[in-house]
Amino acid sequence: MKKTMIMAAAFAAMSGTALAQSYPSQPITIIVPFSAGGPTDTVTRLVAQAMSQDLGQQIVVENVGGAGGTLGAARVAQAGNDGYTLLLHHIGMATSATLYRQLPYNPLEDFAYVGLVTEVPMTIVGRADLEVDTFEDLLAYVRENGEDVMYANAGIGAASHLCGLLFMNALDTQMTTIPYQGTGPAMTDLMGGQVDLLCDQTTNTTNQIRDGSVKAYAVTVPQRVESLPDLPTASEAGLADFNVSIWHGLYAPAGTPDEVVERLSQALQVALQDETVAQRFADLGTAPSPSEDATSAALQAKLEGEIELWRPIIEEAGVYAN
Ligand code: ASP
Repeated sequence: MKKTMIMAAAFAAMSGTALAQSYPSQPITIIVPFSAGGPTDTVTRLVAQAMSQDLGQQIVVENVGGAGGTLGAARVAQAGNDGYTLLLHHIGMATSATLYRQLPYNPLEDFAYVGLVTEVPMTIVGRADLEVDTFEDLLAYVRENGEDVMYANAGIGAASHLCGLLFMNALDTQMTTIPYQGTGPAMTDLMGGQVDLLCDQTTNTTNQIRDGSVKAYAVTVPQRVESLPDLPTASEAGLADFNVSIWHGLYAPAGTPDEVVERLSQALQVALQDETVAQRFADLGTAPSPSEDATSAALQAKLEGEIELWRPIIEEAGVYAN
């Protein structure tokens, strides 16, 4: 190695250590790759507030919605790797790897892993005046009305897209999909009756189900959810093995110094043990990831496993974004 290269490498290592020692010395931004007011945004804001207390720095949440979460993820992939720009994304980080033929980043190479945040059930909900009341009747309604049914989602790669895709495949029927930059605005339109159906995380549907502003049909996990005990599972209500649950992870750009990533994982673990966070999560049908999962290694293993898990399912469905 040339002398200048050795010096550059030594400088990079030194500046990484120096950075880690003073980290964080300025506000941190977490990019949410969906609109404000949606489930990823809700989870992020709760966790960010608790992490910020542990880190002693402000955390700004910025919403960069569009293209099923890939625009926000691309922004972070290209951001400086100093630990001041992070990404809180969900299962879309894994499914987009297959759904997009030309993804502007590599989910396995362009990010450092901070840790898993939470795993959330999905619910299938309809506008309040939809003329069917049970999940079984909904299945018949969708089969009968096909493309006349307006299904809202947050774009290809979003959890709501994935759920709709599995739903349409299971029924062998196409609905008309209406894309949004996140399911926050999709929910607003569902409550306004502009669209018919949405499949979204309990973190964005629980309050609306409880106050009757949307009609709830089923949860998409094998067991009923404690916070919505009357809601049947899709499997028990007529769609056997219809399971999809949404995990969230926190990422930094690749090349972020290990010490910084480690500090962020610690702060994430502290945040996930915070009582207010745990209570709000429980009320919204989810739970904080245990500390052993809020680690770099656990998130990396999860992402790698989920890319492999969803690849054949998506390939069989034959749906691609570009
Ligand atoms: N959860 C939504 C989805 O993937 C997006 C969001 O958080 O707004 O469909």
